[in-house]
Parts: sequence; C-alpha cells; structure tokens
Amino acid sequence: MPGRPVTTNVVCMTTSASLPAHPTPTASGGDSVTDRLVAANRRYASAFTDPGMDARPVLHVAVVACMDARLDLHKALGLELGDCHTIRNAGGVVTDDTIRSLTISQRALGTRSVILIHHTGCGLESLTEDFRHELEDEVGQRPAWAVEAFRDVDQDVRQSMQRVRTNPFLLHKDDVRGFVFDVHTGLLREIDPAT
Ligand SMILES: [Zn+2]
Repeated sequence: MPGRPVTTNVVCMTTSASLPAHPTPTASGGDSVTDRLVAANRRYASAFTDPGMDARPVLHVAVVACMDARLDLHKALGLELGDCHTIRNAGGVVTDDTIRSLTISQRALGTRSVILIHHTGCGLESLTEDFRHELEDEVGQRPAWAVEAFRDVDQDVRQSMQRVRTNPFLLHKDDVRGFVFDVHTGLLREIDPAT
C-alpha cells in the first residue's frame, strides 16, 4: 500500500515511560532541545580541565549496549571518563558496524574484554521484521539492514555473544560476557552462554 505511513511505535521504543516527566522541547518558550544541550555544553566546558588522557581505554574494555535512554552505562557500571569504549545501537545488537567498532577498539586501541548489555522492556521486543516491509511500502525502498527484533532477550544476548566469539576480525574473544539490565531495579543479570 504505497504511501501508507509506518505506524510502528518507534517513538515509544525506549522513553515512553519517562515522557510525561519532560516538558515538550519548545513548549516553554522557544529554545529547541538542541539549543538547551549546547548551552549545557558551554557550562560544562567552562569547568572542564583537560585530563590529558590517551585515546586507549584505561580498563581495556568495550561495552556494547542498547541505546535505551534509561540505561546510564557509566553510572550503572561504575565507570569513569576514559575507562571504556561504549558502542550503542537499537537493541545493543552485534551488527557489522558493531564489529567494525570492536575491531578498531581491539586492534588499534588496545581493548581486550567485551561486555554486552541488553535490557528489560526493550523496544525491539515489540517490533517485527514487518517494520522493514512497512518502510518499503512507505518510501519505495527496502532498507539494507535487518530490524533484529527479538522475543527472548536472554537468547538475543546469547546470539550476540556468539557473533563476537566467532568473528574472525577480533583478536580477543576469551573474555566476552553478556548481561540483561533490569530498568526497574538497575541490576545486571548475567546470561550463561551455554544454556
Ligand atoms: Zn533497548
């Protein structure tokens, strides 16, 4: 059905629960959300001192996680500036582009451990590959990427660990661990790759 809008609830994917807590970006008098962020950056930079860090992560670790707005990786894992690489996308999926980043992270910037973090209530659980078909109907072009929707978050973490462990480009595959972050308790639950 050409012209049919994509009705899937992408907008609600990750933040629907927190939407009422935030004002509409332009409702309170003009500044866009980007303007507010740029203003916040001016304040940040005014107090910033260059720590003189190397680009290589201090803890030699790369974290692959969902882009979900409720997941504050640094706070949740006790990380400091400079500690790790963070690679995020919808679902925390190990895509070709994730592998690109991990390969550079390991071979050029010295990381050796990989942590994968998915989470409860992920927006990808409510999508299916129909999302791609609806997109194609609407815009007349089929996206080259898979939606990577899933039903079982534990199984999806296992699949992601497997993709990392079997990838030929990566140097370090002996310390790859996967977790599900509970957005209600803040706790990580480790996933056994063998189950
Ligand atoms: Zn998610």
